[in-house]
Amino acid sequence: TPQPRGSWSSDSAESDTSEADCLYRVVLLGDPGVGKSSLANIFAGIQEKDSSDHLGEDTYERTLTVDGEETTLIVMDTWEAEKQEEDENWVQEYCMQVGNAYAIVYSITDRSSFDSASELRIQLRRTRQAENIPIILVGNKSDLVRCREVSVEEGRACAVVFDCKFIETSASLHHNVQELFEGIVRQIRLRRDSKET
Ligand code: GDP
Ligand code: MG
Repeated sequence: TPQPRGSWSSDSAESDTSEADCLYRVVLLGDPGVGKSSLANIFAGIQEKDSSDHLGEDTYERTLTVDGEETTLIVMDTWEAEKQEEDENWVQEYCMQVGNAYAIVYSITDRSSFDSASELRIQLRRTRQAENIPIILVGNKSDLVRCREVSVEEGRACAVVFDCKFIETSASLHHNVQELFEGIVRQIRLRRDSKET
């Protein structure tokens, strides 16, 4: 049964055979308070049924059908894990290493989080030099119009400079959150397909 384009459906029964390789880790990066956990929770909870696997406190797995093809994303909201501990750097270095794709999140109401996003992009480039990893810059809290400190144009321009995709989201309104994760899937596939040919 073909599923509607872009649906979140994950009826895996029909594709048990050879989808194992279509599994990708997406790491959420960004300052505290920008909305990473809110976005991860929407990703995890958007489907009613028991199809979501909770792999750990801050890691969520879900299979998306995008453009008629299934892809499983593992979303890691671990960037701030164990922040109190001395070993915080270990966690963050691990995050920088394991992602197959990254969402660098800032809040459009917080310019310093936007500056941090640039730093994270640079750090990521340094850590994964030779690799062409999909990265999407995410300006969250787009619903807070009156508190906006970072314009859409600035976000877009930053993404151009850093050679990554850009989207504004509102976790509160669930606006563009599905588009965010679908966009990541498409970026992953573009790179996969260009490798194959
Ligand atoms: P994290 O620290 O990056 O994981 O951020 P959280 O997901 O914990 O969110 C921090 C705060 O911002 C919480 O109070 C959220 O309810 C709020 N928040 C997150 N996303 C949005 C959004 O899109 N719009 C608004 N208005 N608030 C948001
Ligand atoms: Mg959080």
